[in-house]
Amino acid sequence: MTDPILPAAAPPADGSAADGPNRRLYIETVGCQMNVLDSELVVGALRKRGFEVTSDPDAADTLLFNTCSVREKAEQKIYSSLGRLKYRKRKRPGTVIGVLGCMAQKDKDLVFRKMPHVDLVVGTGQLAEVPDLIDAARENALRGSKSRLTALSLSRKGGARKEIEASFESYDPLREPTMRPTPHQAFVRVMIGCDKFCTYCVVPSTRGPEQSRAPSDVLKEVQVLAGQGVKEITLLGQTVNSYKHSGEGKTYRLSDLLYLIHDTPGVERIKFVTGYPRDLGDDLLEAIRDLKKCYHYLHVPLQSGCDDVLKVMKRGYTVEQYRDMMHRVWETVPGCSVSSDFIVGHPGETEESFEKSVDSVREFRFKNSFIFKYSPRPGTKAHERLADDVPDEVKRRRNNELLAVQNEVSEEENARKIGEEVSVLVEGPSVRQKKTDEPAAPGEAIQLTGRTRCDRIVVFDGNPRLIGSTTQVHVDDCTGTTLIGSIVTREVTHLGGLPVLV
Ligand code: SAM
Ligand code: SF4
Repeated sequence: MTDPILPAAAPPADGSAADGPNRRLYIETVGCQMNVLDSELVVGALRKRGFEVTSDPDAADTLLFNTCSVREKAEQKIYSSLGRLKYRKRKRPGTVIGVLGCMAQKDKDLVFRKMPHVDLVVGTGQLAEVPDLIDAARENALRGSKSRLTALSLSRKGGARKEIEASFESYDPLREPTMRPTPHQAFVRVMIGCDKFCTYCVVPSTRGPEQSRAPSDVLKEVQVLAGQGVKEITLLGQTVNSYKHSGEGKTYRLSDLLYLIHDTPGVERIKFVTGYPRDLGDDLLEAIRDLKKCYHYLHVPLQSGCDDVLKVMKRGYTVEQYRDMMHRVWETVPGCSVSSDFIVGHPGETEESFEKSVDSVREFRFKNSFIFKYSPRPGTKAHERLADDVPDEVKRRRNNELLAVQNEVSEEENARKIGEEVSVLVEGPSVRQKKTDEPAAPGEAIQLTGRTRCDRIVVFDGNPRLIGSTTQVHVDDCTGTTLIGSIVTREVTHLGGLPVLV
């Protein structure tokens, strides 16, 4: 994922590294929503130091790469972007190049060895230090010093838990409204880290121990965001429904947190990702059933439809237990949509076990699934102990097959919505609209996009004035990924007797 946040800015007149008001920042973000949020917060802090943001790397004097280590491909992408900057650094030595986040945390030495022109690496827990480190790195660079700067969290492998927890402290300063992906939507972190240790996954070592933020801090952040015009809040955590915070007189779970933030004036919709199947309690399902602002949508990755593979993955549940969970979801919140992640070609996945994943997509009718080819990650149990025994072409074929079945299911489920009237929170112009070169005349309808309460994407023609509001849309047609609709208009007779369409 490339950074979606940034507006373009004009290049500096002299093309040189600059200080003060001429500071220009380019930031590239790879990975999950957690990384998008981290970048948003770092950019907010740098703006306060006078940085302007540019989407053109050639116009920047500071280039940051917020990285992901979950799959090898994400790392390769960053290395190739960094590689292209070698010559640039030689030509403009005052340029500062920084690597942030998971890859920095995991591979500091490797990054410096492969990319000697990188000035700083900053781990997931130290992002608050980025502005000072950039200043120090620029001074170094301008003095011709070859020293490089690092700020990293403690490794999980040694030390007391308290110390490690402190080194991975969450970084959630209050933000500038301009730094969000859209003005009406914002992420709020409620947890950091993960203690689940699935065998294939690098997150527990790059993001550290599981820690839940105090409910009062979360509420304060939601209130500020609502005051800035945010209508939709997405609560973030690696296993967000494992949220648990003791203090302030009681133990809060995610359901309590939903009740706490629900009545915040201005907030219209609330969702949370990513859910962990084993921890999906009835209290949470009842909360999303009873609280009218909650999405009827859950992302609870199954990962594999085969018990043997789930056991090797150490996911902590069987398919039967996942099935029970799905029945509880359907019974408590009828119509709730559920999406999943799958890994294909995990060590030990036979053709027969893969077929069970295919069957699970048909049985559980996921709204959509993110499907990944297994990628062995150094530092994980799977990498240390299990042979990567599924050839790449088999992984690719399984990926395509599973995706094709998921697309079929998605289209069938979307088709069931044709003829319904759905309530849509309007996010902005659709992807197609953004690609059109011709600007719309004032008041002219454009193609808009938004989401239903079940998190289905809807496109329809409407006045751009609707962006940020909730509107009723009639579903006329669909594809596997999108509902296609038209705004519901009702005739209202005003006092003067003139009919007005709303
Ligand atoms: N915490 C979430 C959960 O447990 O479902 C997932 C977080 S992980 C950052 C996002 C997804 O990446 C996972 O659900 C998994 O499907 C995928 N993933 C993680 N490690 C992987 C690996 N080594 N190879 C391929 N996919 C991987
Ligand atoms: Fe990784 Fe498993 Fe934690 Fe998800 S629950 S972040 S897959 S270790």
